[in-house]
Amino acid sequence: MIPDSFKQDLLNRVDIVDVVGRYVQLKKAGANYSGLCPFHDEKTPSFTVSPAKQFYHCFGCQKHGNAIGFLIDYGGMGYVDAIKELASTVGMQVPEWQPRTPEEAKRKERDTDLASILQRAMEFYRVELKRTPRAVEYLKRRALSGEVAARFGVGYAPDDWQGLKRAFPEYDHAALVECGLVIEGEGKRYDRFRDRVMFPIFNRRDTVVGFGGRVLGEGEPKYLNSPETPLFQKGQELYGLGHAREAIHQAKRALVVEGYMDVLALAQHGVGYAVATLGTATTPVHVTRLLRELRESGAELVFCFDGDAAGRKAAWRALEVSLPLATDANPVRFLLLPEGDDPDSYVRAHGREGIERLMVRSQTLSEFLLGELRAQSNLATPEGRSRFMVTARPLVQRLAAPMLRLQLTRAIAPIAQVAPEDVQRLFLPEDAPRYRSTAPVRASAPRAPSSEEQGLLRCLMVDPALAQALEEDLLDAQAPESAALRDIAAALAEGDAPSGGMLVERFSGGVHEALIFRAQAAALDSQLDAAGAAHEFRQLQIALRIRRKHREIEALKTRVVGDAALNAELNQSIKELHQLKSQRS
Ligand SMILES: [Zn+2]
Repeated sequence: MIPDSFKQDLLNRVDIVDVVGRYVQLKKAGANYSGLCPFHDEKTPSFTVSPAKQFYHCFGCQKHGNAIGFLIDYGGMGYVDAIKELASTVGMQVPEWQPRTPEEAKRKERDTDLASILQRAMEFYRVELKRTPRAVEYLKRRALSGEVAARFGVGYAPDDWQGLKRAFPEYDHAALVECGLVIEGEGKRYDRFRDRVMFPIFNRRDTVVGFGGRVLGEGEPKYLNSPETPLFQKGQELYGLGHAREAIHQAKRALVVEGYMDVLALAQHGVGYAVATLGTATTPVHVTRLLRELRESGAELVFCFDGDAAGRKAAWRALEVSLPLATDANPVRFLLLPEGDDPDSYVRAHGREGIERLMVRSQTLSEFLLGELRAQSNLATPEGRSRFMVTARPLVQRLAAPMLRLQLTRAIAPIAQVAPEDVQRLFLPEDAPRYRSTAPVRASAPRAPSSEEQGLLRCLMVDPALAQALEEDLLDAQAPESAALRDIAAALAEGDAPSGGMLVERFSGGVHEALIFRAQAAALDSQLDAAGAAHEFRQLQIALRIRRKHREIEALKTRVVGDAALNAELNQSIKELHQLKSQRS
């Protein structure tokens, strides 16, 4: 929503050394600054901040980014808040987002309207809770303290078909239907939530975007959520994340449970780092957002499910979603509760220590994966063992964390009664698809680095403006860096990206993220300045021309026999090759 031009001006004006220096003690080390990494425990500094390139990078835990990213990762701020905070330090005013089309203007106005309606409804439900002894009694029976209920904004929807009319005299307004509070059918309108304890659902900006409601008595359904609305998409929100953020940071752990009552009961017993999926299976958005919250290397993500068949299935789904997202820095665990228990009942019976003991003993991702696969196969027969490997193969291949993948292939070997090298060969062949460009196909034998394309990318990290001189037709179509180089050149042609930090900003989350990150780390390592980068860039393009000339010559040589014209062309090419070589320095 914030214009790119503003972000560029902002990043040009702030100094990342100041921004990071407020939180980390930095010492000058050559052209850069270094200090103890705030994202992982260390005794010797591997955290570097480059004033020239305006980004930071930790060689220990690989965290990296620009000033905005630092405030998000370390300060735990949302994107917009981080920009506002930065802007205030240099006296810049974040421009109000200006809708460009009438449709955008309409959509923005609608979203603001819907959010304020939901806010008003939450306040109404909270007042109703205080006036309804039955509802208060229910919460007491669930042993929920008034303090926790108030902290999470718990309320009560009255047992009345049009209870909201008291909060909204304009009950006929279409927006009440649009935000999911009122249902319209056969010419009648009525409240969606009636006689239910109400749990407001906040998005990451702490705005109410929906509700979950639990029946007081025996009615069906037991839990009812807001429908999908322009503000609320179930697969994207995590209940309680805003409240849990601080505790996640302190405990270095996030616990994912299924229900709101679980989150509240856990919070009341001192486990403040729990969040709930909202009646949906775990989604990639959930996992991505949680991994982003786990700032410290070693901080873990624990999925907690009931110990029954449905819980196991849900846990397996969470595992499948986590495979391509998990990193070596943040372990993922699976906690299956004893049958008959849920987190709410367990923490009430055994307290914080009890459930934390379970978390410590819970299965790691690899233990859970292997355990489930073993249970499905008859390992006593060769056929059963090969079946085991057939099932394991695609799962291991999807795992993005290279170290863990290597460990898994080692662990699979004795179970399948084959040599570890055979597992590696069968699971991770040379031409295996690369699910993520960060992950080398084989952890033990990474791709040879330092192609010309990689070098060019590294130069652009120091001075993106060099991309103006990029000769795109020289690039090797097979090199993964080529597409990134072309996209940077295109971005520059649109007038974007004056600094390396801005490039990270622009491409973060996209297909080139990993390549660009690697190039930035390399640029930081090389201590290249703008003049050096410009020189290297020119040299690399000469090398590309030489490479192409070599290929032309090779192609000509195979056809030249007895053809005078081709022979002349070959001689000309060789002459040009020598000229090109003389341009190198
Ligand atoms: Zn670090």
